[in-house]
Amino acid sequence: MTLESNFASLGLAQPLLRAIADAGYETPTPIQLQAIPVVLTGRDLRAAAQTGTGKTAGFVLPILQRLSAPGPDGKPAQSRAGKPRCLVLVPTRELAAQVEESVRTYGKYLSMTSLVVFGGVNINPQISAMRGKIDILVATPGRLLDHLGQRTVDLSAVEVLVLDEADRMLDMGFIRDIRKVLAHLPKQRQNLMFSATFADEIRELADSMLHEPASVEVARRNTASELVTQSAYMVEKGIKRHLLSHLIKEGNWFQVLVFTRTKHGANRLAEQLCKDGIESLAIHGNKSQNARTRALASFKDSSLQVLVATDIAARGLDIDQLPHVVNFELPNVPEDYVHRIGRTGRAGSEGAAISLVDREESKFLSDIERLIKRPIPRATLPADFVPPPPSQRTTLDDDRPPRPPQGRRGDSRRPQGGAPAHGRGGSGQGASRGASQGAPARGPSQGGPRPAQPGAVSARSPSGMPSQAQPARAPQGQPQPARGGPRVGPRTGGAPVRSGSVLRRVP
Ligand code: AMP
Repeated sequence: MTLESNFASLGLAQPLLRAIADAGYETPTPIQLQAIPVVLTGRDLRAAAQTGTGKTAGFVLPILQRLSAPGPDGKPAQSRAGKPRCLVLVPTRELAAQVEESVRTYGKYLSMTSLVVFGGVNINPQISAMRGKIDILVATPGRLLDHLGQRTVDLSAVEVLVLDEADRMLDMGFIRDIRKVLAHLPKQRQNLMFSATFADEIRELADSMLHEPASVEVARRNTASELVTQSAYMVEKGIKRHLLSHLIKEGNWFQVLVFTRTKHGANRLAEQLCKDGIESLAIHGNKSQNARTRALASFKDSSLQVLVATDIAARGLDIDQLPHVVNFELPNVPEDYVHRIGRTGRAGSEGAAISLVDREESKFLSDIERLIKRPIPRATLPADFVPPPPSQRTTLDDDRPPRPPQGRRGDSRRPQGGAPAHGRGGSGQGASRGASQGAPARGPSQGGPRPAQPGAVSARSPSGMPSQAQPARAPQGQPQPARGGPRVGPRTGGAPVRSGSVLRRVP
């Protein structure tokens, strides 16, 4: 089977196959194999699948295809201002940003528009963005209710509803909000529910929401890989960098992907490793697309020894036979660990996942071990490693810019669990619009002012004509700081910085 025919055999159309090929995906993952054909038929779906399985493409690809399919008049339905045709509900702003980014990635050759809204940020730019045409709206429940309350969105045209990470939404107390949102949707629609688990409460919700659903279930994508050797060094924070340099140099490691929790940490560590004589670059959402592309290219061709990345920046980074993944800091969301280590031990090659764990992170380590249902062997420090004296130890906090006052994180009405807000998805305004830059009829030129479009790249219209990329900009063409005082919580907080012309928050 050829690269394309693999996905093509699922019934996906050319513009999607091209986008998939651009993303570098060769074969559909098990959840994609099962979910895509079902969703394409318009049937409801109940899917047991976790982050890291490729579930997002499993629903985004067929939804894009359905929404762009011509109607009885031979034309795809018109997108309308403030009236999305598809609603994706997710528990956290990070996931919201990621899902909407996927919509843009997979929909780049289609004339679809998408918008992401989440809480914890000023609602006004989102309200302006809602005035534009929207095909796919990705939202956290609380902020969506705020919009419904202000009548800035109308859900009466929703044809497809997705509840993503439904179990996490229930854990976070969103059940009442979800039910309130459901009351605004038309009865006739397709429903897709994705959840890692289907315990009683979630099953109840599924039963009340789904109509004769197809049921699919997939094993976690990465934990199964016995080819990844996992180990954890229990070390003091101040010697992590020195130990890492030692391991890389003495082990002659090449193509080392190192994860940090924050963008600042990624920058800092890359600098520190360079000082140690190890060629390193950081990639994260504040880097320009060109800088990211260059860093990835030199990492892939092995001319760059170490790439330091945040979780979201590393999404889509598919390098077969990547030999070393290092968790310089453990993620506080255990699923992210699984996702990270899945970068190695692929395609039958062996890989090593090494974690450097300080005292404060031991809770994260036990959470991870609980999730993967096995202990991670503790490694002993190499005999020839001599930790530097305390005065010479460094951490990623060194030179850290002052943090702004801390406030609530996540959705404006609920505590947000889990994922740190590192990464590039979404704008600092909590609203970003994306998908197509290519549609003459429904493209940006006719869609009114467009809010920030991080990482916008030029796209081709369905006719094959190159179309104008949207420069990233704030809604009124001016970068606007998020208003309304502190909004970013302990783990997600950070100094606002400019990236291109978009104001973002750096964790
Ligand atoms: P998800 O579970 O949707 O969060 O996806 C996990 C990661 O898998 C993302 O980084 C995707 O870019 C990547 N991914 C999704 N589908 C494929 C595929 N068919 N082949 C390779 N990588 C994929």
